[in-house]
Amino acid sequence: MSDTIFGKIVRREIPADIVYETDEVLAFRDLNPQAPVHVLFVPKRPIATLNEAGPADAELLGKLLLAAADYAKRQGFEKDGYRTVVNCNEHGGQTVFHLHVHLLAGRRMTWPPG
Ligand code: ADP
Repeated sequence: MSDTIFGKIVRREIPADIVYETDEVLAFRDLNPQAPVHVLFVPKRPIATLNEAGPADAELLGKLLLAAADYAKRQGFEKDGYRTVVNCNEHGGQTVFHLHVHLLAGRRMTWPPG
């Protein structure tokens, strides 16, 4: 398992704008936001991509999504809605190989994504 910039954020070795934390999940603002609210939810125990996730990670993956929804609701986006995205490898557009859920909110999203 290679270390990434997100591992360094989890270990507080580099700064990030942390907005949400549980025992197993950390969330911080994306440096290059694509929406008025753009937050990344990462498991503290790193998984490189969705491909490496297995049955033993099912609960953790669920907690990531629930954390994103909890944060979105607390921020007032429950009714208008929001988008969650997990990119995988090159065609998915993944650039940081520590699995993360993007939470995008605060504007109307378009579909299909680019
Ligand atoms: P993409 O770069 O195509 O969005 P990913 O799904 O792997 O691919 O997302 C990585 C995200 O991490 C990007 O949105 C990028 O802006 C963000 N990012 C990279 N470095 C940092 C950092 N140090 N702090 C916060 N966000 C970061």
